[in-house]
Amino acid sequence: MPPGPFCYIETSQPPATEPGPAPAPLTCLICCGPVSGPFGHCFACRTVARRLHLPLVPVLPICLCPVPGPLYAILLGYKESPVTEARCRFGRCLRELLCRALLEHRACLAAVSDGPLDLVLPVPSSSRPGGAPLGRVEGLAERVVTALGTGVRWLPTALERAAGQIGHMRPNARAFAVPCRARSAVRGARVLLVDDTYVSGARAQSAAAALRLAGARAVVIVPAGRVLRPDRLDGHAAFLAAQPAQSGHGPRCLLLSQAGAGTG
Ligand SMILES: [Zn+2]
Ligand SMILES: [Zn+2]
Repeated sequence: MPPGPFCYIETSQPPATEPGPAPAPLTCLICCGPVSGPFGHCFACRTVARRLHLPLVPVLPICLCPVPGPLYAILLGYKESPVTEARCRFGRCLRELLCRALLEHRACLAAVSDGPLDLVLPVPSSSRPGGAPLGRVEGLAERVVTALGTGVRWLPTALERAAGQIGHMRPNARAFAVPCRARSAVRGARVLLVDDTYVSGARAQSAAAALRLAGARAVVIVPAGRVLRPDRLDGHAAFLAAQPAQSGHGPRCLLLSQAGAGTG
């Protein structure tokens, strides 16, 4: 049986017979980021899962996102830029990136959620008033629903900020909650959480945990960018060098595996 996203797998490298370049890091079974050492999951996912006391949900990033870099400038600029025109321009870029990928990778999403999606919403902000910045990108909700196909509902009110504290590498299943008015929609639903960036996953996985605790059948997280720090971490630099940045969930992408089967 192939390894699932919740499996904990010890992996081993064959003994080196002669010195050579270090192999590229393996891919985390949860977040598709680089793994250091003999693990199936990266340090961040192992830490977040242990502190959340729950299994993590799968993450299918659209792109790898090195910092600094042009994609990161977009993913930060659409919410942080002091210039309104720039925020709008970055927002349009993000909307196009997200919607094109959701359309192209519908099969990948259906595979990890074991069926067609019912609900889609942005990961709520943990600190900003007024909801998730993604929810304020003009036209994003309509385009996302169109990209995902019939039957799916955009329901940003399915989650709201609750009292639990949250921080970097500090998830909390009680940081978000499903309000009473959304409980019937969430119960038994397959839910897609969209986000701009994924770093440690503490916020997104906390949001996913709240949905699972409210009875969601499946939750999958799609961030536009899986943030990597090649300027600080050699493993991130080697990981980026080994695969195109556009294939954020490359090893778990059905399209790429089909393309590989066709050329092999
Ligand atoms: Zn990970
Ligand atoms: Zn894919």
